[in-house]
Amino acid sequence: HISLNKFTKRFGDNTVIDELDLEITSGEMIALLGPSGCGKSTTLFAICGIHQINDGSILFGDRDVTHTNAQSRNVGVVFQNYALYPHMSIFDNIAFPLTVRKLDKKTIKHEVEAIADLVHISELLERKPAQLSGGQQQRVALARALIRKPDVLLMDEPLANLDAKLRLEMRSEIRRIQLETGITAVLVTHDQVEAMSMCDRIAIMNDGKILQIATPTDMYSNPQSDFVAGFLGNPP
Ligand code: ATP
Ligand code: MG
Repeated sequence: HISLNKFTKRFGDNTVIDELDLEITSGEMIALLGPSGCGKSTTLFAICGIHQINDGSILFGDRDVTHTNAQSRNVGVVFQNYALYPHMSIFDNIAFPLTVRKLDKKTIKHEVEAIADLVHISELLERKPAQLSGGQQQRVALARALIRKPDVLLMDEPLANLDAKLRLEMRSEIRRIQLETGITAVLVTHDQVEAMSMCDRIAIMNDGKILQIATPTDMYSNPQSDFVAGFLGNPP
C-alpha cells in the first residue's frame, strides 16, 4: 500500500495541500476527483516524485520514499498528452524504460511483446506515433508506463484528449488492464462518471483537502456534504 501522511505542498507562500492523509490499498484503483485547481495533479506529482513535498511523508509499503526522486520510486505515469517520442517506433517507445537500463535485446523483445499483447497493440509495433489514433497512442503510453512493472500506475486525466466514443472504450480498457495486472492505480479526473465507472474507491477533493473517500456506491448513496452531493450531481 501507499500512504501519504500529513502531506503538505506550498508554491511560494501559497499552501495548496495542507496536511493531507491518504491510504491507497494494494491492488485498488482509486480516483482523485474534484474541480479544477483543487490539487489533484499536485497530489499525483507528489506520489510520483516529480514534486518534492514541503512537509509530511510518503510511504510505499514500509519504504519511506519522501526524499527520493521519480526514477528511484518505480512508478508508471500516464498523462493527458501521451508524450510519446515521435521519431521512434511504437516498439522503441515502449522499450525505452528498459533500453535505458541496458537490458539485453532478447529480454526487451519478450517484455515488449508481452505488454503489447496485454494492451492490444501487437500489430502496431512497427508504426510511428503519428500513425496511431488517440486511443491507440494512449494504449502505447500505458504499455510504456507498465513495462517496468511499477509499484503504482499514476494517471492524470488520461482520457481528456480523446473523443467521446474513444473515451468510453478506454475507460473500460484501462480498468481491464488494471484488473488483469492487479496493479495499484491512481486516476486523476474531474469527471465524476469516469471516476464512478472505473474505480474501486473515490477520494473527492476540494481546495487541497479530501472531503470524503468511499466506494462509488457509498459515495453516491451517502454523500457527507453538500459539496460532495453537488459534485456527484445528486444534490440533497
Ligand atoms: P486541474 O483539474 O485544472 O488540472 P488540479 O486539481 O490538478 O486542477 P493542481 O494542478 O494540483 O490542480 O493545482 C492546485 C493549485 O496549485 C492551483 O491553485 C494551482 O494554481 C497551484 N499550482 C500548481 N502548480 C503550481 C506551480 N508549479 N506553481 C505555482 N502554483 C501551482
Ligand atoms: Mg491537474
